[in-house]
Amino acid sequence: MNEQITKTVPTDLYIDGAWKAGSTGERFDVLNPADQSVLASVASATVEDAKQAIDAAEAAFGEWAARSPRERGEILRRAFELIIADKERLAALITMENGKALPDSRAEVAYAAEFFRWYAEEGVRNIGDVMRSPATGARILVQHKPVGIGVLVTPWNYPAAMGTRKIGPALAAGCPVIVKPASETPLTMLALMPILEQAGVPKGIVSVLPSRSSGKIVDAMLHDPRVRVISFTGSTEVGRKLLKSAADCIVNPAMELGGNAPFIVCEDADIDAAVDGAILAKMRNLGEACTAANRIFVHDAVHDVFAEKLTAKMSAMKVGNGLVEGVEVGSLVNADTRNKVAELVDDAKARGAKVLCGGEVPDGPGYFYPPTVLIDVPGEAKCVGEEIFGPVAALQRFSNEAEVITKANATEYGLVAYLFAGDLKRGLALSEKLEFGMVGLNRGLVSDPAAPFGGVKQSGLGREGAHEGLMEFLETQYISVEW
Ligand code: NAP
Repeated sequence: MNEQITKTVPTDLYIDGAWKAGSTGERFDVLNPADQSVLASVASATVEDAKQAIDAAEAAFGEWAARSPRERGEILRRAFELIIADKERLAALITMENGKALPDSRAEVAYAAEFFRWYAEEGVRNIGDVMRSPATGARILVQHKPVGIGVLVTPWNYPAAMGTRKIGPALAAGCPVIVKPASETPLTMLALMPILEQAGVPKGIVSVLPSRSSGKIVDAMLHDPRVRVISFTGSTEVGRKLLKSAADCIVNPAMELGGNAPFIVCEDADIDAAVDGAILAKMRNLGEACTAANRIFVHDAVHDVFAEKLTAKMSAMKVGNGLVEGVEVGSLVNADTRNKVAELVDDAKARGAKVLCGGEVPDGPGYFYPPTVLIDVPGEAKCVGEEIFGPVAALQRFSNEAEVITKANATEYGLVAYLFAGDLKRGLALSEKLEFGMVGLNRGLVSDPAAPFGGVKQSGLGREGAHEGLMEFLETQYISVEW
């Protein structure tokens, strides 16, 4: 099946609606992390190729921006339907290049497609304003115009959804985009291009540039004055570099960066619901998510029962090649990611944490790591300060509200927090004290195309999804008018 699917995926650069080998002809291999087999050899874009993509975007921009929002919306809606119709092939492809299990990949395809449906509906609500100036009586007319060419840089953990979450609002707003997918997982984004073509996206409006010289090509694009938006999802470290590059030409930044989510279980919480929520918040995408519960704080009074129930569920999860039906936990994406998970667990053990399940790297090919539960993780353990990005639940105990809120907020990140409390009034009051862009209150999942996704502090700038996501690709023009 692997070969049949990869044969359907184009592997050249997609520029101006055509497949091109790239200016140097250089290529790189994409591997299946479950067995290290080579899936495909993909063209690697250079600065010259990036310039061609910008030229194409510039040429296509005016006509696309001038189309009615409804027409653009109908194209996005068709793209949504075509992706859903192709769900199984795309899910298998995601599993092959990323390693996650098929249920995770199927969920990603549905989530990815949903951004096209949402923005097909939201793009027609590009609402302006008219008012009278209180001082002069002139009319103040406010409208939102497409901001211009967007460069979209995406990570490997959601090869489809992190791209569509940006492409959907950009196209709805009338902007052309150039996508730079992660080198680990470029195939899914390439596979989406024939679908967008079939849906009616004109040439030049979306280009895709896989590249082994990511730093160089993105930097060059950010220094081309025609580029007006850099929308990045990835690590805080790379986000910082891009913000510095973006400063030279004052390019609008939208940054979805790292997280270090606390997951708090109060003593009055429904423990079964909290365990289910923890499984979702921890094990969705096998923990390779910026939203993954990284630090699990459990009240002393319910700690042992929570830990026991969580361990029972975690240890029952089936680990294996993500393409095999019934497997729930696939392979991590690469050796570095797996080594980091193992190192964080070993560090926590050395500092006194106890292992309730998992905790050892299995033998054999593939970058697998078993679902792991650690308890009594000390505050100084590295996994408390860093993103684990793997299937490891690290539990700490707490005894009062003030203590847990202080600990939860003690991070430079501020993407998402989760809180389970029986008394909703108390839950809402505690949620307000959490310094995070999103809070899952009695829920282990916050991602929703209709909601503004994003972080505070060093987790990012701006929001994706909802109406806010559209505004990232629009800019405000005010006309002072006498009539
Ligand atoms: P990453 O190393 O920051 O890479 C992300 C993207 O940036 C890739 O396409 C990468 O290309 C590119 N890149 C790397 N260095 C670059 C540079 N100097 N200039 C321009 N582009 C560069 O992140 P990752 O390891 O793929 O993803 C994991 C991280 O993403 C985690 O920190 C996670 O929390 C974060 N994330 C955040 C969100 C959110 O919504 N907040 C969602 C998902 C993931 P190459 O692959 O070619 O290196």
